[in-house]
Amino acid sequence: MSYARFQTEIARINDIICAINLLAWDSRTMMPPGGVDARGHQVATLTALARDMATGDSLRRAMDGAREELAQAPKGDIRLRALAQAEAEIGILSRIPARIIEDMAGLKTRAHSAWVAARAANDFAGFAPLLDRMMAMQREVSAAIGGGAHPYDPMVGQFEPGMTLAELRGLYDRLKTALVPLIQRATAAPQPRVDFLTQDFAIAQQKAFGLKIAQRMGYDLQRGRLDDTVHPFEISFTRDDVRITSRFREAWAPGGIFALWHEAGHGMYEQGVDPVHTRTIFTTDLVNLYGVAGASFGMHESQSRMWENRVGRSQRFWELHFGEFRDHFPDQLRGVEATDVWRAVNRVNPGFIRVEADELTYDMHIILRSEIEAALMAGDLAVADLPAAWAEKMRDYLGLEVPNDTLGVLQDVHWSHGYVGSFPTYTLGNIMSSQLFARAQQVPGIVAGLQAGDYGPLHGWLTENVYRHGRSSSPQETLQRVTSGGLDPAPYIADLTAKVLALTA
Ligand code: ZN
Repeated sequence: MSYARFQTEIARINDIICAINLLAWDSRTMMPPGGVDARGHQVATLTALARDMATGDSLRRAMDGAREELAQAPKGDIRLRALAQAEAEIGILSRIPARIIEDMAGLKTRAHSAWVAARAANDFAGFAPLLDRMMAMQREVSAAIGGGAHPYDPMVGQFEPGMTLAELRGLYDRLKTALVPLIQRATAAPQPRVDFLTQDFAIAQQKAFGLKIAQRMGYDLQRGRLDDTVHPFEISFTRDDVRITSRFREAWAPGGIFALWHEAGHGMYEQGVDPVHTRTIFTTDLVNLYGVAGASFGMHESQSRMWENRVGRSQRFWELHFGEFRDHFPDQLRGVEATDVWRAVNRVNPGFIRVEADELTYDMHIILRSEIEAALMAGDLAVADLPAAWAEKMRDYLGLEVPNDTLGVLQDVHWSHGYVGSFPTYTLGNIMSSQLFARAQQVPGIVAGLQAGDYGPLHGWLTENVYRHGRSSSPQETLQRVTSGGLDPAPYIADLTAKVLALTA
């Protein structure tokens, strides 16, 4: 009965962290500003409860008993896998001392308000002391988790198990070599017109069009819903309630619509997990105390980027759907053709802001941040020297002179929340997205489906090969099983090269 007890304990932890997810969804969509302090207490209490249960004796005894119970089980038994995975995650969680977690919670609140004020006032010095403390604490976390060749490794490993700075550097070098000339070629070519996308696009119509396509991609509104937010996100409370959000602006229709498809890509992953994994360790991230079916942050991002970029920004996609888009906005799109939209939503335009970056320059923003984070973690870069380091890298990678810190080092929320090591997962997602998409295109029926606007074959293949496994298959195992290899940026570089050649032909 011990394995059943283990399952029950994990199910209860999953219930609590899904409730935390629901509170988080509410605070980012519906909650009035006055609710912020009480919500902070609620989330802190539930998080402490989940952590105590995950690191407590009751679960420990159940796991010890379950291992004895399964002593004769064959090596590949999924129950052994579940136990090993719980063991590894609890190991990381319990190595971070409770004192650091408490101190961090207090520091996050102060650092976040200091960051908001500093960004508004372009006052890096106002944020620097708190960032300095945050980085010192992150170095403590890294040392507590331990196990890496570089202090950045344990930080990245929290989000992408097994990933190291050494491997990232190899990937980044290949990307830089390939992307810099592509960016130069794209920016030297005549620029597409985007004026027609900056008129008044009624938000209700944007949502209607965006959701119709998202449903056709496979996002299930019986188990999902769309709401408005400031920073778009997806979050789930089991596979049966998977919510997405977007941010719509009347004056720039692609922003909200593409963010919707991006989040729907995350959502389909969560909705597609096999129901047998519901409320098990395979839909529970004990390191981050987060209810999620995705194998890692990077694998999750590979799914959002596939639907957003590989499908939604393709030439064929706009040939197929431009008519419907125009039906929703007949006045704004008079005299515009499908190819104009395709060119406009793929415009390469090096800029200062990561979240507004196009597909070609996006990874440069990530490489810059990863290199800076690694240097901060190693103590090779002082917080006071951050703005200068940022400016130098923006000059090197994108040829831009950063005019102020609000458009530079102060733009992202991550560091004020103590998220160090999560940026690389965006680029890993891009790379894996193209690897999986390249493999999918060799499967009979998928290309024909994409050509006809029938996304069922691609969605079905992803469900079978990625979604249904949840966290029972690591990113490395998934890539090996599907592509017969490891991480490889070549398909991603090939996709971007083909895109630039088509756009500048
Ligand atoms: Zn995403």
